[in-house]
Amino acid sequence: MTTLEIRNARGLDGSPVDVRVEQGKIAAIGSALPPYPAAADGVDGADGAVHRIDAGGALLMPGFVESHTHLDKTTWGMPWYVNECGSRLIDRIDNERAWRAASGHDAGAASLALGRAFLAAGTTRLRTHVDIDTDAGLRHLDGVLATRETLADRLDMQIVAFPQSGVLDRAGTVELLDASLARGADVLGWLDPCAIDRDPKASLDAMFSLADKHGCPVDIHLHEPGEMGVFSFELMLERIAALGMQGKVVVSHAFCLGELDAARADALLARLADAGVALITTAPPSRIVPPLMACRRAGVPLAGGNDGIRDTWTPYGSPDMLERAMMIGLRYNLRRDDELDIALDCVTHQGARACWFEDYGLHVGARADLVLADARNAAQAIVTRAPRRWVVANGYVVVSEGVAV
Ligand SMILES: [Zn+2]
Repeated sequence: MTTLEIRNARGLDGSPVDVRVEQGKIAAIGSALPPYPAAADGVDGADGAVHRIDAGGALLMPGFVESHTHLDKTTWGMPWYVNECGSRLIDRIDNERAWRAASGHDAGAASLALGRAFLAAGTTRLRTHVDIDTDAGLRHLDGVLATRETLADRLDMQIVAFPQSGVLDRAGTVELLDASLARGADVLGWLDPCAIDRDPKASLDAMFSLADKHGCPVDIHLHEPGEMGVFSFELMLERIAALGMQGKVVVSHAFCLGELDAARADALLARLADAGVALITTAPPSRIVPPLMACRRAGVPLAGGNDGIRDTWTPYGSPDMLERAMMIGLRYNLRRDDELDIALDCVTHQGARACWFEDYGLHVGARADLVLADARNAAQAIVTRAPRRWVVANGYVVVSEGVAV
């Protein structure tokens, strides 16, 4: 594996920074590092050579983290999907199943195209949900597992087995989820225990019992509003305590937290912090969102993700996590440069914390996931979606001089 030496980068605090990468890890980072003593010099890609990059003052950021997307559903790189779907959640679920059946959608090809686009834009860690249901069986999982294998040395991908169509009304779904976890999915997904499964105790008992059987974490889509969502949180907290699953539960969306008054939100967030629950938001302009600053004060990780990207649910989304950081900035009214540091944090360190990605960050010993972009600081990088000059993923240069390689 090539040794990389990056000189003349700019840290997020504005200070000059050099980085040396050996064996896919950050071996040294700091200002004015001593030159790497190598016999062979300057030969890109050759074993034993040193690949030297003059960053020319480009901003150094850690590789981005996409905490919540659905690679298997996307139409990325395909003809435009004309969306004529109804507006209810169940309309969208039914519409997607019908479209998949009619179009012969290939989750493997779709996920590979979008996974490569994420890498080219600087995302090196990614959690994707994959539909598991009684129509598709494990077909989508197999497609995304193949993508994970193809990109394995560069993109660190977690797969969530996700019952998009609900569980209790569709006999055989629990067994398919069980098989998915045995086949290579890392995380058990779930969906609104009240609003979709309509029997929250039975639904959450099934979810936690399956997670307990596999010793795996869970990541639940909780769209439920107001008191209904709070009730689902209460039931989850009971089960986390009973099974000792502290630190193994992520709740995506969690719109209900944004509807509570500050005192109730703070009280619930304190309990979520005790239970090690993390939250993920897409920062949607059209929905109420969990309170960002209250989450940070409470010590509850709040990470950012796209959710679906150009699929039958939404025409929006992009594999560029700087664009998602901008959405977070807009949704939470972050204007000052130091506030936009928080938006970047949501698509970097908070994502790694929420999804338990290991060896993450800009420190010696971390996996070498680096982005060098044309910007002065995080704020400028976000609002301009600054061009990525170089991207390093697990020590491999995947973008060089602005070109994906
Ligand atoms: Zn989702």
